[in-house]
Amino acid sequence: MMDTSGVPVDDLTRAQAKWELTRLAAEIKHHDELYYQRSQPTVSDADYDALKQRNAAIEARFPELMLPESPSKRVGAVPAAGFAKVRHAVPMLSLDNAFGEEDVRDFFESVRRFMKELKDDPTIPIEALAEPKIDGLSATLRYEGGEFIQGATRGDGTEGEDITANLRTLKDIPHRLHGEGWPVVLEVRGEVYMSRGDFFALNERQEAAGEKPFANPRNAASGSLRQLDSSITASRPLGFFAYSWGEVSEPIDGSQWAVLQRFKDWGFSTNPLARLCGSVEDVLALYGEVAARRATLDYDIDGVVYKLDRLDWQERMGSSSRAPRWAIAHKFPAEQAETVLEKIDIQVGRTGALTPVAHLKPVTVGGVVVSRATLHNEDEIERKGVRAGDTVIIQRAGDVIPQVVAVVTDKRPADSRPFEFPHECPICGSMAIREPGEAARRCTGGLICRAQAVERLKHFVSRDAFDIEGFGKKHIEAFWEDGLIKTPGDIFRLRDRRDEIAAREGWGEQSADNLLAAIEDRRTIGLDRFIYALGIRQVGSSTGRLLARGYLSLEAWREAMMKAADADSEEHADLIAIDGIGPAMAADLTGFFAEDHNRDIMDDLAAELTVADFEAPSTEGSPVAGKTVVFTGTLEVMTRSEAKARAETLGAKVSGSVSAKTDYVVAGPGAGSKAKKAAELGITTLSEQEWLELIGQG
Ligand SMILES: [Zn+2]
Repeated sequence: MMDTSGVPVDDLTRAQAKWELTRLAAEIKHHDELYYQRSQPTVSDADYDALKQRNAAIEARFPELMLPESPSKRVGAVPAAGFAKVRHAVPMLSLDNAFGEEDVRDFFESVRRFMKELKDDPTIPIEALAEPKIDGLSATLRYEGGEFIQGATRGDGTEGEDITANLRTLKDIPHRLHGEGWPVVLEVRGEVYMSRGDFFALNERQEAAGEKPFANPRNAASGSLRQLDSSITASRPLGFFAYSWGEVSEPIDGSQWAVLQRFKDWGFSTNPLARLCGSVEDVLALYGEVAARRATLDYDIDGVVYKLDRLDWQERMGSSSRAPRWAIAHKFPAEQAETVLEKIDIQVGRTGALTPVAHLKPVTVGGVVVSRATLHNEDEIERKGVRAGDTVIIQRAGDVIPQVVAVVTDKRPADSRPFEFPHECPICGSMAIREPGEAARRCTGGLICRAQAVERLKHFVSRDAFDIEGFGKKHIEAFWEDGLIKTPGDIFRLRDRRDEIAAREGWGEQSADNLLAAIEDRRTIGLDRFIYALGIRQVGSSTGRLLARGYLSLEAWREAMMKAADADSEEHADLIAIDGIGPAMAADLTGFFAEDHNRDIMDDLAAELTVADFEAPSTEGSPVAGKTVVFTGTLEVMTRSEAKARAETLGAKVSGSVSAKTDYVVAGPGAGSKAKKAAELGITTLSEQEWLELIGQG
């Protein structure tokens, strides 16, 4: 297997870049799932951001290799089951990050380069609103005729969860807008947070009641807001700072700063540290001030956000599919602390990977008590030389499981011994082996391993897979222990054991029927979800969709995967020709089909289920959606980057060269060979003005 993770971006060959993008997409997706769906991240924000930066840098060098499911096109995670879904009329994007002064200066420079008049006249100041970045949970609040009618989480940015009833319990959220002058339809967006004082008090109550304490205020806010019973939310003190808006029935004019003032008039809290800055020097000075006050604030912040103050400039800069171009989040560096590592524990995951976890003497890092840290894998322990009993430096950045950064070797106890990574699975006792080129040592027990079997079943019913409502992790474990379900197919035979389920402790007729109904609901499943549910290594839900799109039916996919085991076959060539699937993933796919017990599981499932053929989603939208456009010559109204951004926002593909696939060539003065080629090929050529009229902006 190719390991390209250490190769500098500039040295990657095209083939390595393709492989590396696939690997990064899978890894980032994995961390996203841990972070958003299980609130259990295993890497620091800084490491996570480094992955995303590397991905973006490779995409910038090889734009044609960008995957359809590229992490740079995604924001956050899809909503959890249990709440109704809300489609955001205006997407809730995340922000691009800046990690140092240079990045902030680059941001201001990019704004200047983007807009022609700023580029031509460097004396025009770029004003920006700067405000602390609250480490909480984004929410959107919809008001119609001044009444609060719906509130939702961000979710994946396109679709969130309806948490109206819970948001109503927050004192900072007016049920009716105050004052006057608000648009008839107004979506106010902001951050829900829990103060540190309230967080500590809540954790004391949790522990007194024998419940698990929350890791940090952000998790506490998120857990409190996503209660199905809103009376629990009401009992938890949550605050809300308003900072932006979504859909509005009439355009909001003025400036970002002016809108914040209006939010206050309408009854919202805005952050008191927000300030209007006149230049990049001003925002950096404010950053320094906020960083110095950070420890004394009663809520967690993880940086300072800068937004262009002029709304017309925001509009012109527009957004990529992931983040607006007119704002940036300047992040704080991670916080560290010293403590004692008491022992190293091994956890076993769905694919059998043995993951070491450090148990720490509890210590406060950045206002949060930490008692566990991730050690990733065997090599990581070796590389850092971590031993039980060591004094270690741990680091916490944002909402993640903290990491062990280094060992304080002069505090090492005299009797300490190097950690011996087990070569047997601590759960089932099977051999745990490490394949060449693999970071993880894996249990070879397969389905006889309780940890793997249970984790696989949990994966099978999880949200992006079969999404069986009400079939949580505790039920899966208990059903597995009692022999009700051993394999995925058993789930669909539970209907024969209804009375047995109803008679279980904590169950009853009603809850048994509800579960069985939820299972019946999934007896027909889309091919993409089915593929993802199988839990094949490296095959996440985006790869599930790629494969479903490529093979359309279960029969076709299965047959092709069996034949693709032969690396010289046409089927193998077809498989790796799919954008987003590299040789390593192909090996995992064919490896999965080579195992008898995996084929048995599929046969068993096929007998219980209907796997629906994949249907491509329909495209609809703007007059230029799906069209390929080439800009050439000098543009007079917009810079090239603004024109490109606008076209992409409208769903067009912007290409650098004219071919038979080109739909429009937009030619300004001085257009040369491209315009000529367009004429030869009979492609519609437009002036800049005609183009603007076509997209309704003339
Ligand atoms: Zn095992």
